[in-house]
Amino acid sequence: MGENIDLKLMDEEGRRIDGRKFDELRPIKIEANVLKRADGSAYLEWGGNKILAAVYGPREAHPRHLQDPTKARVQCRYNMAAFSVMDRKRPGPDRRSVEISKILSEALEYVIFTEQFPRTTIDIFIEILQAEAGTRCSGLTAASVALADAGIPMRDLIVSCAFGKIAGKVVLDLRKEEDNFGEADVPLAIVPRTEEIVLLQMDGHLTTNEFQEGLSMAMKACKNIYGLQREALRKRYSTVIDKNEEKEKKEEKKEKEEVVQ
Ligand code: ADP
Repeated sequence: MGENIDLKLMDEEGRRIDGRKFDELRPIKIEANVLKRADGSAYLEWGGNKILAAVYGPREAHPRHLQDPTKARVQCRYNMAAFSVMDRKRPGPDRRSVEISKILSEALEYVIFTEQFPRTTIDIFIEILQAEAGTRCSGLTAASVALADAGIPMRDLIVSCAFGKIAGKVVLDLRKEEDNFGEADVPLAIVPRTEEIVLLQMDGHLTTNEFQEGLSMAMKACKNIYGLQREALRKRYSTVIDKNEEKEKKEEKKEKEEVVQ
């Protein structure tokens, strides 16, 4: 962040290196229920980020001394694949992924009705297949869709996106070069219905006015991403309904045929 490099992050017309305006998100695609063996899952593409989220549980927590008699444990594991970044990433947990796993677990735990499932664990796996900045935000956004897909009762989904500062201007959703050579990066996650903030980190420097400006921009963007999450879930459930209707029609037809015979 803030390194001196001769890279123009914004042109005279206020366009960024990928042609976006200051308040524009990278393209986002979300699909729910993509894995057969997980209780819930989601696949998300956000700019150059490609992410899979899988949820297992609530299931009995093992070893037993980890069981909480009052609520479920929410354990999120954020993992970057070795091939997800330019230089091969050393496989396995490191300080960064342990930290991200912890903050994402805490954010997700806040919306899950954990007290309904004492002594259990809810495991959430976030696999970063391709990374291009903003993976904790995209991972969290995917994970909450996977939790809803698993049918886990939640107060609301969680939506996450970052704002930051490049070329002296507050902007939304930094891509890799902007993250590396910009002046600030502020990942944020909210509960859209209540507008509560459940994750907020900051790297770099901002004035209070810039922070306010970025915050309202990110809040607005989160509401749009919330729409995409809900659409992915609606699509997932409407497919199930379609399939059920098909099955019912076939059964009805079979019954009619039997009556005729
Ligand atoms: P986030 O992905 O949430 O923005 P960071 O700001 O820590 O998290 O990372 C920014 C980007 O830097 C990542 O999305 C990824 O593209 C890259 N990156 C992170 N860790 C590594 C690593 N170990 N090796 C190479 N690139 C990395």
